[in-house]
Amino acid sequence: MSLPSSVDVAIVGAGTSGAAAAWYFARAGARVVCVERRPLAEAGARWVNGLTRTALAEAGIELPPGAALGEPHPFHLVTDAGRVTVRDHDVVDVDMRALVALLQARAQDAGAVLAGDTTVLGRDGDALVTDRGRVRARWLVDASGLAGARLLEQPAVGTDHLCAAAQAVFEVRDRDAARAWFAAADIPPGEIYARLGLAGGFSVQNVRLHHGGDTVAILTGSIPALGFPSGKAMLDRIVRQQPWIGRRVFGGQGAIPLRRPYDRLARDNVALLGDAACQVFPAHGSGIGAGILAARLLAATLGGGGTLRDYEVAWHRRWGGLFAAYDAFRRWNQTMPPSVLDELMAAGVIDPPFARAGLDQTMPRLSLGALPPKARALGRRPQLVPGLARVAAQVGAAHLLSALYPRSERRRLAAWSRGMARVLAV
Ligand SMILES: Cc1cc2nc3c(=O)[nH]c(=O)nc-3n(C[C@H](O)[C@H](O)[C@H](O)COP(=O)(O)OP(=O)(O)OC[C@H]3O[C@@H](n4cnc5c(N)ncnc54)[C@H](O)[C@@H]3O)c2cc1C
Repeated sequence: MSLPSSVDVAIVGAGTSGAAAAWYFARAGARVVCVERRPLAEAGARWVNGLTRTALAEAGIELPPGAALGEPHPFHLVTDAGRVTVRDHDVVDVDMRALVALLQARAQDAGAVLAGDTTVLGRDGDALVTDRGRVRARWLVDASGLAGARLLEQPAVGTDHLCAAAQAVFEVRDRDAARAWFAAADIPPGEIYARLGLAGGFSVQNVRLHHGGDTVAILTGSIPALGFPSGKAMLDRIVRQQPWIGRRVFGGQGAIPLRRPYDRLARDNVALLGDAACQVFPAHGSGIGAGILAARLLAATLGGGGTLRDYEVAWHRRWGGLFAAYDAFRRWNQTMPPSVLDELMAAGVIDPPFARAGLDQTMPRLSLGALPPKARALGRRPQLVPGLARVAAQVGAAHLLSALYPRSERRRLAAWSRGMARVLAV
């Protein structure tokens, strides 16, 4: 298949962000090409990811049968000495192979041209330069992930803001032994055992039985630059240690940018989307919903006669504060020894409503009634107060600044960036 020589929108990457953008733009009547360096059937995330139903609904996505691995199940966040159980939350486990395929099919049905095995080498003015020729476009969209085409020469993400994650589904070789392992941790079958702090304050090892116990899903993540084993090393370790875990069915690993999204999400005729823009919820490195909703916003903005500048302003004003706020917490959390996590749970700072808000990617709401017991618990643990006070101040400032993300590109934007960098260094 040859590439069209000229289109309205040329997109790099056919993972969730790029395929969603191709769909939204084509649906609105734009001529779209989306190029992907891997075969299309291997694009994007190839493992199980947690997504909120709210994001799926806002994105207008109905999952195909079998893509969602059950309904949201209780989440047990467990540390050395503490536990918080979130019974109601909004996160469903989704087989990303099915979601990427769905988005690509929707894009093609709407008229977008999707080309696999095509690598973008760079851009030349309004042309996307690929190893199969050039495509001129009014708008170029870089949805090529963290290590992608870098059409805007995005700043490199510092290694201490990179999560090394791994996720895989395995057959269960011995169901009784699997049940016994969960029972020993007091986790009912099918519920999520999220062990925190095994490899630094940010780390997680999340294990859940699927399909009545036939398969087990394991997700691990850590920040190796801080001296900890990677998510892949954590995953390999649990598989080695637990003989009931059998053959690997599917999965993968990769790096996730955790830093707050870039100040600039667009320049010239190029927009950034998804991991390429660091549009990832920093508390747990979730970028699927964020990337898809950013794609929707981009297509709606340009389709409605707006500019790329309108897209960045709208994105930062709507989501920038939330993402920067959780980034403030993540930066504190990743330096914590496990004992501080225990203390935060014991003090009721990390309690079910707080943990639920984090899972659902919303800000926690503090009820007035909850404040006095928390204040008393903190009074008994004064060592937590300076860290909490700093994060609270950062959260407030990040929200305020994001709401004030300037429309003008020059002096005011530079001042805004300096202000945000003072709140949260990059
Ligand atoms: C193990 C793991 C577990 C995760 N768990 C979750 C989770 O539970 N929930 C969640 O929301 N998120 C999760 N994430 C993060 C999520 O997977 C990413 O945020 C998401 O995949 C980003 O989507 P994207 O489309 O922006 O980028 P990608 O998925 O990286 O897709 C980019 C695409 O661009 C292609 N590409 C790159 N360079 C070029 C080029 N030069 N030319 C052409 N094509 C190119 C790539 O081949 C790729 O297909 C996890 C990540 C990992 C690694």
